[in-house]
Amino acid sequence: MVATMKAAVFVEPGRIELTDKPIPDVGPNDALVRITTTTICGTDIHILKGEYPVAPGLTVGHEPVGVIEKLGSAVTGYQEGQRVIAGAICPNFGSYAAQDGVPSQDGSYLIPSGRCGCHGYKATAGWRFGNLIDGTQAEYVLVPDAQANLAPIPDGLTDEQVLMCPDIMSTGFKGAENAHIRLGDTVVVFAQGPIGLCATAGARLLGATTIIAVDGNAHRLGISRRLGADISLDFNTCDVVDEVMRLTGGRGADSAIEALGTQTTFEQALRCLKPGGTLSSLGVYSQDLRIPLDAFAAGLGDHRINTALCPGGKERMRRLMNVIAAERLDLGVLVTHHYKLDDIVAAYDLFAHQRDGVLKIAIKPV
Ligand SMILES: [Zn+2]
Repeated sequence: MVATMKAAVFVEPGRIELTDKPIPDVGPNDALVRITTTTICGTDIHILKGEYPVAPGLTVGHEPVGVIEKLGSAVTGYQEGQRVIAGAICPNFGSYAAQDGVPSQDGSYLIPSGRCGCHGYKATAGWRFGNLIDGTQAEYVLVPDAQANLAPIPDGLTDEQVLMCPDIMSTGFKGAENAHIRLGDTVVVFAQGPIGLCATAGARLLGATTIIAVDGNAHRLGISRRLGADISLDFNTCDVVDEVMRLTGGRGADSAIEALGTQTTFEQALRCLKPGGTLSSLGVYSQDLRIPLDAFAAGLGDHRINTALCPGGKERMRRLMNVIAAERLDLGVLVTHHYKLDDIVAAYDLFAHQRDGVLKIAIKPV
């Protein structure tokens, strides 16, 4: 008899359900991880609504915290029973994309033939959990290329303390890193959802000294000030671009981080910048973007626009967990709710409708 586990699967647009699936077999480069805590991401809501297509029957979720249950024969230096996380993005670090410095864009395993053979690139394809392979909202998950992707949790850190590392913290910090922040910078962060809040915190750690957080939700703006924002702007009550220009004496911000994915926030981020400033874009856009000619100085403004997908890999995860262990940042404030895996459909409903001040939900199989 095949051993089975509970898993939350995408059925059709509007339906993610809990079902039984076989516990996967472990290949030589894999690790089977027993999930102790996972969570629901905004991206999972796009999947639920059918806005981001995944295969029916796929297990969703991409934020694993757990314990190594079984190691593949080629994976060394870990022990079964060890507590680990893995990044939401699990590239093959032997790929051309990884060696070119963009491991999140590794699609090597998708392309068995062709000019690059099985070594090639594909945009966003480093994101495998709950996108291309079964994900983490289950009792077990199979971590591919485990030697590169399993990151041991430092002693003393709880599941909740490291739950943001696989995706939210890695993505938010990448937004701050891509903004090329220097000591004393002024940075505007558009949207203060979990990723925008982590971008705000990252900007603070990198040495920005005027951090302007923008959102329409007073509760989230309050949390942004706890995590490092100096000034919070409610877009319902002010003209954000005018206010940034006033606060900077007409100079403009050194950088702007876009953490939502809409035309309005992208355009406002561009309009807030000084000439030579950097727009760091994290949002997931669902339609074409328009770049206004005047805000772009007709292409002559020395602006930089950077995009990113969440960085993964064990070294990235080690650094992020170090930030937590060194008490430079406490992201426990983002875990607002706890649910059992058995109740995940209700958790999706709460999260999708953003009820009850929800930021992140810790989901536990037991
Ligand atoms: Zn995510």
